[in-house]
Order: sequence, then C-alpha cells, then structure tokens
Amino acid sequence: MKYVSTRGGIETLSSAMAIKKGIADNGGLYVPDHIPLLTDTLFEKLVPMSYAERAAEILSLFLDDYDKTSLLSDCLRAYESGAFTDGAAPTVRFGENKYVLELFHGPTCAFKDMALQIMPRLLSRALKMTGEKRTAYILVATSGDTGKAALEGYRDVEGVRIKVFYPEDGVSDIQKLQMSTQEGGNVSVQAIEGNFDDAQNGVKKIFADAELNAELRGKGYILTSANSINWGRLAPQIVYYISSYADLYKQGEIKLGEKITFCVPTGNFGNIFAGYLAYRMGLPVKRFICASNMNNILTDFLDTGVYDRNREFYQTVSPSMDILISSNLERLLYFVSGPRKTAEYMKQLSETGRYGISANELSEIQSVFTGGYTDEEETLSEIKTVFKETGKLIDTHTAVAYRQAEKYAYETGEKVVTVSTASPYKFAADVLKALGKKQSFTHGALSPLYDLSSYTGTEIPAPLAKLEGKAIRFSGAVNKADMPATLLD
Ligand SMILES: *Cc1c(COP(=O)(O)O)cnc(C)c1O
Repeated sequence: MKYVSTRGGIETLSSAMAIKKGIADNGGLYVPDHIPLLTDTLFEKLVPMSYAERAAEILSLFLDDYDKTSLLSDCLRAYESGAFTDGAAPTVRFGENKYVLELFHGPTCAFKDMALQIMPRLLSRALKMTGEKRTAYILVATSGDTGKAALEGYRDVEGVRIKVFYPEDGVSDIQKLQMSTQEGGNVSVQAIEGNFDDAQNGVKKIFADAELNAELRGKGYILTSANSINWGRLAPQIVYYISSYADLYKQGEIKLGEKITFCVPTGNFGNIFAGYLAYRMGLPVKRFICASNMNNILTDFLDTGVYDRNREFYQTVSPSMDILISSNLERLLYFVSGPRKTAEYMKQLSETGRYGISANELSEIQSVFTGGYTDEEETLSEIKTVFKETGKLIDTHTAVAYRQAEKYAYETGEKVVTVSTASPYKFAADVLKALGKKQSFTHGALSPLYDLSSYTGTEIPAPLAKLEGKAIRFSGAVNKADMPATLLD
C-alpha cells in the first residue's frame, strides 16, 4: 500500500513515511492509493475479537509496512492496558432503532483519545523504520481537548518529546487543571498570555524559524506536529465503525449485511471521513449524517455543493465543532473529484474562501452523506429530553448529533448509530444548565462534576475525579515572544 497526496504529484510513500511527514510537499493530505476490502471472512474473524485485536487486523491492511505482531502489541497497550474503561468503544442501545457508539472512555474523556492513544506508538515505530536517529519534538497549540489528549498519548513514548502551548485565559478551568497536572518525563505544558490564535501563530512561527530549527537539530531534535490531518490519526478511527457493526451483529441487533446509518458530530471532518473509508472497504452503511452546530458550513455544502467560509463564526456549547475550515473534507473531495480538481478547489478556498463542486460530484456525495445542524437551544433541550426519556446523559457535542439522528430515525424507521464524542462530565457546566440545575461551587473548578453526579446518580469518570488534589506541575504564563526560548530550556 502506498500513500499519495490529495493534490496529485509524483510523491508516493510508505505509511511510515506518511505518518512521519504529516503533510505532503504540495500541501495535500496523504491518502491510500487503494482501499483494502473488508471481506466476509475477515468480518467473521473480527466478530469474536477484542477491540485491540480488531484494531490490529484493520490497521495492518492500511499500514502494511508495519510488522503485524508489533501492531498488535501497540494496540493492546493502547486500548487494553487500563487507559480505557468500559471497553474501548462500546455501542449502547438507547431505544428502538437508536444506538450510541461511545468513544469517550479514554484517559481524557473525549474521542481524540481513540487516535491519540495509538498514534504516538505508530510514530515512534515510523521513526525507527525510517532510520531516524533524532528525537521527535511534538509541538501543539491547543484550545483545550487536543492538548490534553496529545499529552496523555505521547507521555513516556520512546523517541518523542511533547510541548503543549495553551492560551492562559482561553481554556476552561477543568482543561487547565487537566494540563497543568500532566504527568510524564517527556512532557511540558506552557500557558501563554493571549488567545488561541496567539498560541497557534507562535507555534507556526517556531516551525518556520530556520535558525531555531538548526539549533534544535544540533541538539538532536526534529520538530513535528500531532495535527488531526496526519494519516496516523485518521487510520485508527476507521476501526470503531467496523467494530461497532461487529458488536451490533454480535448482540443480535442487526442481521449480517444489514445496512445501518451513522450520525457523526462533525468539526474537522476527520471522524466522519474515517467512517466513509470503512464504507468504501465494504462495511454495510446506508448513510452518514454529518451533524453540525450553528457553524453549519458543512450542512450548506452537502445541500448545495458550495463551500463558503465567508460567514459569521459562532462560539457554541459544542466548542470542539466550532470550525469553519474542515481540513479532512479535502480527502473526500479526492475520492470524488480526483487530485487535479481537488488541488483547484483548495486553491480557490485559500484565495477566495469559497469553492463549488459540480452537480455530478454533489450527487455522488449526497448518495451517502446528509447534512443537518442543531442550534444552541435545541442542543440543550435534547440533553434534557434524552435524560428524561432514557435516563442516559449525553454531552453537548453528542446532543447536536443525537437530535439529527432522532429526526432521521423518525422519518425513515431505520437504525441509526449516533457517534458520541465526549463524556457529559467533560462539559458538565453546560449539561447541568441543560438539565435546569444550578452550580454549587463546593469543589472549585470541579463543582459542576460533583453537582451532575449527585443530581443524576451517575459516577464522575475516574480520570476527571482524580484531578482533585493532584499536584500542579506546570504554572506561570509567558509572553508569546518568549515561546521559542521555552523550547531550548
Ligand atoms: C474533535 C471533536 C469533534 C469533531 O471531530 P472531527 O474529527 O474534527 O470532525 C467532535 N466532538 C468532540 C468532543 C471533539 O473533541
């Protein structure tokens, strides 16, 4: 299996090289040059397996330059060594035709763990496989979820160091607590004075600073990123779609070959695109519902074929989906329009903020994708309704999708799996508000978690409960001009 750029060109790489490089020389994203098949024999083999075993089987099809035994040992360490509780990715029945694929049982209680618990191990092996002697120095600018998930994933991984920058006043109290108490010998966390853009621009400047890069190379480091466009983050996400189908079959909820629909709360289009690859492998999928919040640029695109980011940006209660550039959509365009047109659309997007695909391309996309968006009021009322009707708690991101899934299931009578991307405890303050409850302020930053637990009789997830009383390891903020200097310390 070779990897090529979504924007064409002659570059073809092994998966290890694609994972090490992250982005293609011509600005495109790496995609596999063909899609392996999920045969009946393979599916039957997967059914009795654990999540880690399924992951190793599926990953080995795409990462065929990796040794399969090593992949299995990495998957076992990622998904079955205690980092995930309740099984890595269980599919839970919520009601007639309604299921929820829970991806938030990892160490940071958000779905980014599904990829970031395995990706560092894939990178570490890629460095060895490509003869890299230097240490990979991962830089991340974060507005919250990604930073913590990356820290947890990369901590104490061989051949890697990680540094995360976050805006001092731009993350929630819980997120700040999660990052400042991070454990591990190869991690560091730095708050900066300013907002997320300052952190992001500071990191971009560091990557572009030739002198600093030379100095770091002299000390035995190469800079790299843990960005969501890296193939090493996307490939592991294919697994849980197939695994969910296998679980539904095993639980007797569906017949072999029966088509189901997935509804995915979407921001960068990475999660839902991984589902599309599973579908292209042969997974029986009827449809993908792409659920958005008020930043409904994808709903418009899927309705009209026009992607236009010249619009207002909203801050919503589902902040991880507050995105106007869905980078991974480029990979779908590649499969539908080919590399030449994809390069052209991306050029138009960067020059004018807008592009439009042809009617044929749109109808091909619409044959499997539907868009829909949920506004702020509906999101909060959905949390309350679901709790009242099923006794189950969902977070704000999941609620955005669940609302669309319910609409679809009601209209079609078909089975829908809503992909749940965060624990309700991660966004406890808004979930409490949705339930019509007030905060008590008894446990500092963790108060909403305790309130939610006592009101609903559910348990605070261990990784969040453990934050209480943990030692602060990283404190103090620096000016953004001093970001490069903190790397050399
Ligand atoms: C990142 C994230 C999303 C969006 O996923 P994409 O792959 O960017 O579409 C949705 N929900 C939560 C909680 C997230 O952290």
